Amino acid sequence: MATAVLRGSGQRRLLRGHPWIYRSDIQEVQGAAEPGEVVDIAAPNRQFLGRGTYNARSQIALRVLTTETEAIDAAFLRRRIAAAAARRRDLAGPEAAYRVVSSEGDLLPGLILDRYGSVAVAQFLTAGIERLREPTLEAIEGVLRPRGIYLRNDAAVRALEGLPLERGWARADGPEQVEIREGPCRFRVDVATGQKTGFFLDQRENRLAARAFAAGRQVLDCFCYTGAFAVHLAEAGATLVEGVDISPEAVAGAEANARLNGVEGRCRFRVANAFDELRALDKTRRKFDCLILDPPAFTKGKEAVAAALRGYKEINLRAMRLLRPGGILITCSCSYHVDEATFLAMLEEAAADAHCRMRILAVRTQAGDHPILLGVRETRYLKCAFLERL
Ligand code: SAH
Repeated sequence: MATAVLRGSGQRRLLRGHPWIYRSDIQEVQGAAEPGEVVDIAAPNRQFLGRGTYNARSQIALRVLTTETEAIDAAFLRRRIAAAAARRRDLAGPEAAYRVVSSEGDLLPGLILDRYGSVAVAQFLTAGIERLREPTLEAIEGVLRPRGIYLRNDAAVRALEGLPLERGWARADGPEQVEIREGPCRFRVDVATGQKTGFFLDQRENRLAARAFAAGRQVLDCFCYTGAFAVHLAEAGATLVEGVDISPEAVAGAEANARLNGVEGRCRFRVANAFDELRALDKTRRKFDCLILDPPAFTKGKEAVAAALRGYKEINLRAMRLLRPGGILITCSCSYHVDEATFLAMLEEAAADAHCRMRILAVRTQAGDHPILLGVRETRYLKCAFLERL
């Protein structure tokens, strides 16, 4: 096994529990390591610090897996995946949908594992976990016993690691369409063609919290995808829910989910650009009692934060103006590079320009099955503010 000898900066990161070691934090690599191969990690004085996977092609050259002397094999992977599954015991159930392994948050950098009832969906996002694919699949089968494991290795980040984009069943085929339950609602998830792994599980707790603001209200759900917020609010007593998404497939899924829950009479979905839609509504006299903004990440890097903030401000400003007094704005950002303080500052600016006074009811984050590690800020990415217009 090769050894990556860290600089002092890399050693400090590792000792503080951060799993990412940058290329510039590594002094030298002794011996040869294929992209993604497991290496020993040593301090500048050559003392053993742990084991991780090494990929010289990635900015994050080293991902720490353990600070013990344990072997990185099928048994190790099974221990980690079983521990992650055990932490989510409360969420389990035959039709339950939740994230079983959330990459760094579960000490398995690069691995995303979601469960949609009887089907598992996995993403191997780094060269390191890709090399461990076979023992990882074995461990998943052993722990979850799914009807099939669908690989959504078509995420663009794989290219940064020098990995091909692909998708399909890992072993035996399972059903691509699965029906799941979230609170009192049911949703159809297409694990093969849906966005990401099929459903935005990170918003589960926020959707359930949003139900409290449904009864008797008129709702606009922008960026509605397959209607998860919309259907919850309709089921919880909203009089009318309108949903907007730019993707025709998402809108078709939202209509199907409304029917599945018997709320199609109170839901109207349309294919549109939410920016245009908000601008057009702003010119009418229409008002809403509850408005949801759950856009995709407007920036994936540090460079584009200013442009992203302009986009966030525009939609939030218009959304605030579209609310009746007492109306609720549920507004989200999943851009990691826009932190909570920056997000709240943007909302302040939007409210000021919209001449709206807003009260903060709650500032929430991602659901608990997407764990946040103290000191690993990258694991905290979702902001979800509940605001009331005065
Ligand atoms: N709220 C959803 C998840 C939203 S994901 C849920 O709880 O399931 C973001 C959605 O925004 C995607 O469905 C994507 O198709 C849509 N989208 C992206 N750009 C858009 C735009 N300009 N206008 C409308 N929808 C857009």
